[in-house]
Amino acid sequence: MADKKNNRKNNRNNDEDFNPRFRKARKKVCPLCADKNLKLDYKNADQLKKFINDKGKILPRRATGACAIHQRDITLAVKRARQIAVLPYTQD
Ligand SMILES: [Zn+2]
Repeated sequence: MADKKNNRKNNRNNDEDFNPRFRKARKKVCPLCADKNLKLDYKNADQLKKFINDKGKILPRRATGACAIHQRDITLAVKRARQIAVLPYTQD
């Protein structure tokens, strides 16, 4: 019993407010802000595939890491791509 308690203490990772329920997330950089030359194109399916999951749903910001402005651009581009049948609305 005492051993278990010690183990938990040693798992603190030298981080004062380490909580196993809330792992400190690494700060994501918006892929569109990071690369100024990258231009979103709704006709480019390969480029937009990075922002949808295998079901064809648009990934949330916490997954893409995009800033609010660029997430909006991504959403618009994916929706346009769907309309011209470049990307699927759903899969399976
Ligand atoms: Zn951005």
